[in-house]
Formats: sequence, C-alpha cells, structure tokens
Amino acid sequence: MLKVEDINVYYGNIQALKGVSLEVNEGEIVTLIGANGAGKSTLLKTLSGLLKPKKGSIQYLGKPISGKAAQTIVKAGISHVPEGRRVFANMTVEENLELGAYLRSDKNEIKKDLDKVYEVFPRLQERKKQLSGTLSGGEQQMLAMGRAIMARPKLLLLDEPSMGLAPLFVKTIFKVIQEINQSGTTILLVEQNANMALSIADRGYVIETGKVVLSGTAAELQESDDLKQAYLGGH
Ligand code: ATP
Repeated sequence: MLKVEDINVYYGNIQALKGVSLEVNEGEIVTLIGANGAGKSTLLKTLSGLLKPKKGSIQYLGKPISGKAAQTIVKAGISHVPEGRRVFANMTVEENLELGAYLRSDKNEIKKDLDKVYEVFPRLQERKKQLSGTLSGGEQQMLAMGRAIMARPKLLLLDEPSMGLAPLFVKTIFKVIQEINQSGTTILLVEQNANMALSIADRGYVIETGKVVLSGTAAELQESDDLKQAYLGGH
C-alpha cells in the first residue's frame, strides 16, 4: 500500500531523515519506534505532504505521492493525527469532527461515520456541544483521532497517540486503534511506548538518528536484545 524508498529530508541544513525505506501493507498495523529526535514525526509529516523529500520516492497505492500537496494526499485517503493533538479550540467537538470530513460530499455516509465516532468515543458524544479547548488532554486526543476517522482514511498516520495520557486512557486509545484497523483502515503508528505499540502491531521499524536500524515482525522485535535494552525497559 505504501512504499517509501531511500528518502532524505532536511530542515534547512539539518538532515532529519537519511535514506529511510519502509513498507506498509494493506490491513497492517506498523509501528515506528525510536528515541526523541530520531525522525519519526518527520517521516509522518513527509508522508502527509507537509515536508518534501530531497531524494527518494514514496509510492502509495502504486502511485508516486512525494511532493504532492497535503490536501491531495488527504483526498487520496491518508489522514494524519499529529503529535500534540491540535484540535480547533474555539470550535465545538461536533464542529471539529465535521471538519474532518470537509473534503467529502457524501452526506449520509458522513452522518454514519459521525455516529461511528460517537459509538467508539461515547465521551465525545456527551460533550459534542462543548468547546474543544475546554476538553481534557485525553478527550482532545480522542477528538483528534475522531476527526481523522471522519476523513474515512485508507491509511491512518498516528503520532504518539498515548503521549501525556493517563494509563486508563492509554489502554482505551490502543483498543480503539485496533478497532479502527479491524474495520479496514491500515495504520502507521509512531510511539515511544514500544511495549504497547508492539502488542498491537504486525510489524515495526526502529529509527535512530534518521535511519532505520532494525525492522521485523512485532514478535521478532519484542525478542530483540538490542530493542529490549534501548526501548523495552531492559527486560
Ligand atoms: P520526538 O519523539 O521527540 O517527537 P521524533 O523522532 O518525532 O522525536 P522529529 O520531530 O522527526 O523526531 O525530529 C527529527 C530531527 O529533526 C530532530 O533532530 C529535530 O531537532 C529536527 N527537527 C524537527 N523539526 C525541525 C524544524 N522545524 N527545524 C529544524 N529541525 C527540526
């Protein structure tokens, strides 16, 4: 579904990605693991068209998408939930959700998806008229995910969905990620919480200072000594 080949991405003179290659197959949950500053967010931003690679190619559903406008990429079925949630604070919960579907015109289907989001996140339904800026951090994370679901993506890019959440919310968010996947959406998940990410992922890639240093099935990565030492708490 997604094939990234040898991409280099820079911020000015700083090279954030150094020849990264990876693949995501339809139906999978693939996780990207790595320390702060490894380049995980940069990779997601590049996939969603916010940054352009200097070198390399990105193929999505067999067609090149690198360098395309972010809006074109959303329309093609890739939705990005950035780090730090970023909901529109002065709009209500429901308005934020409706905005997720702004490129769609299938009104009946949009309504169905709204109902689906409320079914997955009953908390959002209870608070649909509330201004989003007044939601708790966990609720804003749910809203950011709900808004991405409203775009009805084929591929969902999630950047640290568990960040800053209470353990109970972390469990809920990971369960929802699995549900979204089971309903047919392919997922690329960036996480610092490697244990949790590998527990729901099919495969994973480990990124260090802009390079993929390790990849494999979730089971292989869970067994990897290098990974255990660096990211899984050494046991
Ligand atoms: P984290 O988990 O801490 O968010 P990350 O793996 O997502 O880390 P990135 O945000 O992709 O890391 O950053 C990769 C590198 O690019 C870092 O060295 C970072 O300092 C640098 N970088 C990121 N954004 C910018 C920017 N706007 N300008 C300059 N350098 C940047």
